[in-house]
Amino acid sequence: MMILVSSCLIGCNCRYDNNNTLVPELKHAYEQGFLFPVCPELMAGMGVPRTPISICGSSGYDVLSGSAQVISHSNDIVTEALVRAAHYCVKLSDMFSIRHAILKSKSPSCGAFSTTTYDGVTGQPGVVAAALIRHGVQIFDEHSDFHKVLNDR
Ligand code: SF4
Repeated sequence: MMILVSSCLIGCNCRYDNNNTLVPELKHAYEQGFLFPVCPELMAGMGVPRTPISICGSSGYDVLSGSAQVISHSNDIVTEALVRAAHYCVKLSDMFSIRHAILKSKSPSCGAFSTTTYDGVTGQPGVVAAALIRHGVQIFDEHSDFHKVLNDR
């Protein structure tokens, strides 16, 4: 069974600063065909490099419920595009029967367990993690013990 993964964790230079956050073990699993990489910010039409974004609120749940916005550090509102990307990730999880996702921590988009807001990092999920959690997908971040999931898939 496929596992969704943040593209930057397998070495794609899709971060806002044209860099990645490679986890060699995840790249290895990708090369074996176990992982389905996504970069929600690229799916939302943002380029590389790009101005970083933050949630103007406390979590991805707030963004999904319409009570918070996602705004770039140059003041562009990207909420709608990012919510669309999150819904697309949920659709992908259905299409490919994906039940687990390994997502980058602290991202306002991927944001497994923590996300970046204009008040700092909160212990809440980002927009995509929130949408996937609501859909019943089990989330891990790059610091979690995701090895069992890789081995059991
Ligand atoms: S954390 Fe998510 S949105 Fe940000 S670069 Fe990595 S894959 Fe893309």
